[in-house]
Amino acid sequence: AVSREPPRHRRADRGPLGWKIDPYDGNPRDEAVRKLVETRDPRTGSLSGGIDDLLEQLKISTLRGMGGARFPTHLKWAAVRAQASDVKYVVCNGDESEPGTFKDRELLRRAPHLLVEGMVLAGLTGGATKGYIYIRHEYHEEIEAVEDAIREATARGACGTDILGSGLSFPVEVFVSPGGYICGEESALLEAMEDRRAEPRNKPPFPTVAGLFNKPTIINNVETLMWTPSIYLKGGEWYRDQGINACKGLWFCSISGDVRAPGVYEVPFGVTVRDLIYRRAGGMSRGQRLRAVAPSGPSGGLFPPLIRRDLLPEAFAKAHLPDAGAFFDLLDLPLDPDIVRGMGGMLGAAFVAVGEHADLVGLALNLSEFFRNESCGKCVPCRVGSQKLVEMIRALRAGQFDREHLELARSLGNTMILTSICGLGQVAPNPLLTLAKYFPEEIEALLDRRGGPPAREFSMFET
Ligand code: NAD
Ligand code: SF4
Repeated sequence: AVSREPPRHRRADRGPLGWKIDPYDGNPRDEAVRKLVETRDPRTGSLSGGIDDLLEQLKISTLRGMGGARFPTHLKWAAVRAQASDVKYVVCNGDESEPGTFKDRELLRRAPHLLVEGMVLAGLTGGATKGYIYIRHEYHEEIEAVEDAIREATARGACGTDILGSGLSFPVEVFVSPGGYICGEESALLEAMEDRRAEPRNKPPFPTVAGLFNKPTIINNVETLMWTPSIYLKGGEWYRDQGINACKGLWFCSISGDVRAPGVYEVPFGVTVRDLIYRRAGGMSRGQRLRAVAPSGPSGGLFPPLIRRDLLPEAFAKAHLPDAGAFFDLLDLPLDPDIVRGMGGMLGAAFVAVGEHADLVGLALNLSEFFRNESCGKCVPCRVGSQKLVEMIRALRAGQFDREHLELARSLGNTMILTSICGLGQVAPNPLLTLAKYFPEEIEALLDRRGGPPAREFSMFET
């Protein structure tokens, strides 16, 4: 079953991998922080020239939030910089819990020095007084790696007080998440850090205005912060131009499911589904055919390898099916947040390939149960709706569902999307809604009582 339990380690080693994200290839040299503090005006002590340049490079780079929501990083940092407050914070969200997502774990373990350096860059840019790296409690080895990296950076003078002799200070420490999927939702995370029950807040105000202890706060995902040192050192264009197929930048993708080589890959935005599955991840396991793709783990829903043109938004069909073909071949899809959104999906950090032997209705049930179990219960649409979705899929499988029920399910799903306080309730209906839209034959088989028992339960983490 899908759970928050992380997959077991394949390689417990740390060290360089030749990743483009790491300009030091495993040997931290703090060059980005040095570059920034060297812009300090000796008369005023201000870093504003360097900060303007850093923000400009982030803007040019097109770097966006790598937790999945893709908010432009430079806007977040600039928004906190613009706030007049004596106390401000930087919080790194390392509570990675989306099933199928394990790229931050790999990054935390292998290159924690980049995270500490990214935190210091964010802190100096926003004028923040303190940084916290919030990590899920099951990531024992990663917590240790980050704590070591903070100690080492502090010993080198690149973090803490009087950073590289500049007179500027920015201490960083680890905060271990109390646990639970919702503890990673950014405002629930803040509640947890303030020693309250981890329930999401209504937004706005966004954390850039009222974050930790009501102070302006930059909250970024692990990977987002880790890209910033190389972008500042090599320039925004360097990062932007790594994209392919007219897309921009690089990202780390966790690929899992029925592929031969599940794992974490540093790939350009614009990499096609074909390239990701059949080249990087070694193809489908046991020679299976591809049955479905989840480009954002459970949150973004399920898509078939061939999508009927009439199910696609018109603008997407025009751009990607210019010859008026009847089907769009998903293997040709360039993986880019805007393109996948244009298709009606979401590109998160988890990419799951589902083989032909999987029971898709069972998978939708499994994912819906996950959201139901992890709902914090604060708002009615999600608390009640997530349980109803589970009951509906169970009824569907038991042959107790008819077409009217299906309409009810759609209506419930749309209500949850429109009225839930946070992302969990807004994405919880996606497994069932996308199954009904893109795999109508699966539903029809059960509606007509022709569906047999499932071949097997599919696990997000099974390889
Ligand atoms: P969101 O779109 O509401 O916000 C994204 C970020 O932008 C937030 O930090 C938010 O504070 C900020 N923001 C948005 N508008 C702003 C504004 N006007 N001014 C300043 N800041 C602004 O998304 P979300 O609810 O934070 O996150 C949902 C995403 O998280 C989904 O894509 C989901 O897939 C992903 N997710 C990831 C994991 C994981 O383990 N990596 C787990 C669960 C969910
Ligand atoms: Fe809690 Fe769900 Fe409401 Fe989010 S949508 S606040 S998880 S009940």
